Amino acid sequence: MKQLILLALLSVSLLSCKDTRPKDGKFHIITTTSMITDLVENIGGDKVEVQGLMGAGVDPHLYKASEGDVSKLSNANMILYSGLHLEGKLVEVFEKMKRQNINTVAISDALDKKDLIGSTLFESNYDPHIWFDVKNWELITVFVEKQLSEALPEHKEYFKANAVTYLEKLKVLKEEIEAEIATLPEDKRRLVTAHDAFNYFGKAYKFDVVGLQGLSTATEAGVQDVQKTAAYIIDHKVKAVFIESSVPRRTVEALKAAVNSKKHEVVIGGTLFSDALGNPGTPEGTYIGMFKFNVHTIVSALK
Ligand SMILES: [Zn+2]
Repeated sequence: MKQLILLALLSVSLLSCKDTRPKDGKFHIITTTSMITDLVENIGGDKVEVQGLMGAGVDPHLYKASEGDVSKLSNANMILYSGLHLEGKLVEVFEKMKRQNINTVAISDALDKKDLIGSTLFESNYDPHIWFDVKNWELITVFVEKQLSEALPEHKEYFKANAVTYLEKLKVLKEEIEAEIATLPEDKRRLVTAHDAFNYFGKAYKFDVVGLQGLSTATEAGVQDVQKTAAYIIDHKVKAVFIESSVPRRTVEALKAAVNSKKHEVVIGGTLFSDALGNPGTPEGTYIGMFKFNVHTIVSALK
């Protein structure tokens, strides 16, 4: 009888328990884009549980939080998102999480405003595609290490060591991509893609960048955009244009058709990873692999 009463009490207390925050003793971090997920996994290692909301091929500009997402976010110990209105439809959700006293941090806070590229297309007034300059990613690595160390000071040394290892890898990455880009003459450095994700890349490596859809994929490319970009390709004898993994390919195909209809040749140079990494377990499923893949695809097609 005593046992029965205890059992009844226990089930009542379980049912009435509103705090659904995980009680497995782990530190749960929810991230948005796969670039952030990869970085936090590298720094946090086995001391944290990282769950990314957006997988391969997912467009962060258009992503809306499902009920399941909101519940995951509410139960997190920390939320790391990109910011600068990259996740344009999640801004209100993040505000709500902040009000619930969940540590909700934009990784773009790692960067000095003077190093950002301005844009009137976003409410933030800045271009949010900050990960396409490795120098920014280095600053963000240090920033994430600091966030994790503040939250879990007992693992400070561990996070520090992981960040040092990762920064070494980023240094090697920078050297590799610089060497590959150096083989492409500057007058051939013209990058035409589905949407303007590559302005930081262009600034870092002296590419002229043209995006069909403007900065955000929330607006469709119009006939005028296609004609203007087609004229640019013909004027500058651009050999190839690129699809993006997180943007429908039809706009770039329309562009190719517009150029070809004027008796000029342009090919689709490949698919670039812009606002999402590749599938987990593939080389492009990491930030470093994605960057190498993009640079190799761009340089090979434009040479
Ligand atoms: Zn984008």
